[in-house]
Amino acid sequence: MFFYSTANPQHIVDFRTAALHGQPPDKGLYFPERIPQLSASFVKNIKQYSKEALALEVINPYVGNNIDKKSLENIVAETINFPIPLQSIGDRISVLELFHGPTLAFKDVGARFMSRCISYFSRNSSKKTTVLVATSGDTGGAVAHAFLGVANTEVIILYPSGKVSELQEKQLTTLGDNITALEVAGNFDDCQALVKTAFADAELQDKFTLTSANSINVARWLPQQFYYFLAAQQWEATTPPVVAVPSGNFGNICGGLLAHLSGLPVLHFIAACNANNTVPRYFDTEQYEPQAAIQTLSNAMDVGDPSNFVRILHLFKQQFSVLSNAMSSVSVSDEETVATMKELKQRYNYLPDPHGAVAYHALKKHLDQHTGHQGYFLETAHPAKFDTANLTGLTPDWPPAVTHLMQQKKVAIQMESDFNALKSFLLQR
Ligand SMILES: *Cc1c(COP(=O)(O)O)cnc(C)c1O
Repeated sequence: MFFYSTANPQHIVDFRTAALHGQPPDKGLYFPERIPQLSASFVKNIKQYSKEALALEVINPYVGNNIDKKSLENIVAETINFPIPLQSIGDRISVLELFHGPTLAFKDVGARFMSRCISYFSRNSSKKTTVLVATSGDTGGAVAHAFLGVANTEVIILYPSGKVSELQEKQLTTLGDNITALEVAGNFDDCQALVKTAFADAELQDKFTLTSANSINVARWLPQQFYYFLAAQQWEATTPPVVAVPSGNFGNICGGLLAHLSGLPVLHFIAACNANNTVPRYFDTEQYEPQAAIQTLSNAMDVGDPSNFVRILHLFKQQFSVLSNAMSSVSVSDEETVATMKELKQRYNYLPDPHGAVAYHALKKHLDQHTGHQGYFLETAHPAKFDTANLTGLTPDWPPAVTHLMQQKKVAIQMESDFNALKSFLLQR
């Protein structure tokens, strides 16, 4: 399989190059030259596959012979070595829990797959690969845990001081080994700008093999299809589900749409957004008008110009009517989010995180209008990761896997939001 740049179809690379470089030099996004089609018997017998065999079947056409079969099998097995349960919570609604990975958010899957691919591709290189990543919270932790101890790689994470939750900060700053955290006096945009400048710097490019672990990397995007296939294995009803996805950069839902176009039965997708409503407005007006991000309670979705939306338009060949048949999008306010968290706890004894609550709200609205439909929403993070207790007065149980983290000592290097400071840090180590 080859991948072309959405900005220039003549620019074509293999999976290895797309995964190592992240983004084409023309600033487009890598996109598969064709959508693999699953056989009808595969879809019909989906419940008979092990989850590893299923995931391997899904990802194999994209990777091709860039990774040998045995290694790819291992990579896939390590990527999903935790439960991804679909649970009914009543009234035609189920929840797909994506927070059972090491950092309690769905980004673990993409990050784990990517880290192992990068390690495989650099296994015979004399230079180690340096992953430079800016985070607003979840990405950094997922990437750090995914690369921890992975041979021939190191990770440098830039995070905005005082702007990530306590647990998120512990996840970034307590690992040690090949993971370094830089606490930047600035906001997420400053961190991202520093990383971008570093990638454009000739001297750094020369000294290091730099890779971004950005969510647009195909090695993070493509394995997100697994969630939807694993849900299909657990889906009991005879009619396909309506699926609601909390969306920010639209990488996750774009994985779902890709799975669907490959043959996975889904009735309809709902992109659930917070007040950052660029895509809901697009579906209303057919005009794509990005805007500056607005801060909300579901802060991992505070994105005003979702980078993966271009891929969604490509998937549907820019045909608005086909796209709006497959997918719609809803904006949910912070007030509705908090009320939904409380309502879910009260009615079903299920306390979601703010992102999952946004998706539940959007799904509920749809199901109220379509009484024959059933569906599930994606719970993309554990409620303990966010300010759930302060928002709702309800305290989520702490998963045992993270309680020990809170006792560990934060180790971070303080840094001004200044490229020269970053550059001399990188060169002087
Ligand atoms: C990143 C994130 C999202 C948004 O996912 P996209 O793929 O960017 O749309 C939603 N919820 C949580 C908890 C996240 O960390």
